[in-house]
Amino acid sequence: MSLFSLVYAERNAEVRAILDGVDCPTPKRVEEILAQSETCDGLELSDLAELLQAGATESAYEQFEMLRAYTSARWRIAAGNSVRYVAPIYVSSYCVDACPYCNFSALRKDTVRHRLNLDELQREIQSVLARDARVVELVYATDPEYDTRMLVRDITCALEAVRELDGGGVLLCTEYLSSQAYQALADAGLRGIVQWDETLDQQAYTRWHSASPRKADFRTRMDNHDRALSAGLEVASGALFGLADFRYDALMQVSRVRYFAEAYGRAPFVMGTARLKPIAGRELHLATSVSDRAHETALMVYKIALPHVGRWLQTRETFELNLRNMLDGDVFTYSCGEVQPGGYTQINTNSIAGAQFGVNEMERSYVDSELTNLGFRIDYGWMTAPRTEALAAR
Ligand code: SF4
Repeated sequence: MSLFSLVYAERNAEVRAILDGVDCPTPKRVEEILAQSETCDGLELSDLAELLQAGATESAYEQFEMLRAYTSARWRIAAGNSVRYVAPIYVSSYCVDACPYCNFSALRKDTVRHRLNLDELQREIQSVLARDARVVELVYATDPEYDTRMLVRDITCALEAVRELDGGGVLLCTEYLSSQAYQALADAGLRGIVQWDETLDQQAYTRWHSASPRKADFRTRMDNHDRALSAGLEVASGALFGLADFRYDALMQVSRVRYFAEAYGRAPFVMGTARLKPIAGRELHLATSVSDRAHETALMVYKIALPHVGRWLQTRETFELNLRNMLDGDVFTYSCGEVQPGGYTQINTNSIAGAQFGVNEMERSYVDSELTNLGFRIDYGWMTAPRTEALAAR
């Protein structure tokens, strides 16, 4: 099996060397890079670093607007765009890890925790299917109760519910698992995994995760996508912006996706775009905080670098920001079950105390009308084999 950890040192050194010497591009230089992106088979990382630098430079407003105009013209037509819908269903909020940016951290004693039993899981699934969702993502914290047998049980339950639905499928978001576990889950009918790398900056990663008994293992976690891809699963990849220099995270993610293409002949079905947000009402004033401009630049650079891969626009962001950035083929979810187990069926009535983080839950009718105005529709049943392959192809 190919492993990203075996090429990590080389990729890390390449990205750091590029960032050491990067300057903010002039508008003319942005024009050249964008023109080149249409004729070559993927821009060089050094070109992408220049575009990212425009997002990090306060005075480069014109360059930023050029990126916006380019991506909108290329991937956002007047009508007929679609975004793919995924319904996250939180199954457990018990966690042994202690990420400081998450309310499920084992150190947060005030979090109201819950673990869905099978009846409750079925009710949550039926609740999202009643709202037309067909692709469900089962979400777990690092809960030791969930061994492979339990995950197979839950996946089987979800699959039974979506099996007959055109374009339906089941995704999984858990801690990193073994190759044997992924093989068993793939055999049970799982289609793919969702995992953000948080950051591939090892120093920053260790700073954020040293108190987490499972998650502290940077290398084993880094190779998780390899184990899933080798088992035949689709993967969603990405960084959590804000833990380290966003330019480093974005370039390493592009490098990683290119590695997936070389090693497995396919790309992730979506790029995650999560960004660190205040937790429990506390603003985090960090040197690595990512402004809206920087964040939106990273989203556009992903699309320019990886034209066939959509981005997963996050409900942690405002609807206005997501509408500004939405492009054909992205993933967009307007309801996340209040990011806690039982959120769709209101098992916990004190919703804030049980949520993983703050999100913007929205009414479907409002979302539909705003999206229609912009020429978008929501695709609920997108997980057909040929379409998934096309989305994952480079
Ligand atoms: S981010 Fe995941 S691993 Fe970390 S505390 Fe939250 S649920 Fe646990």
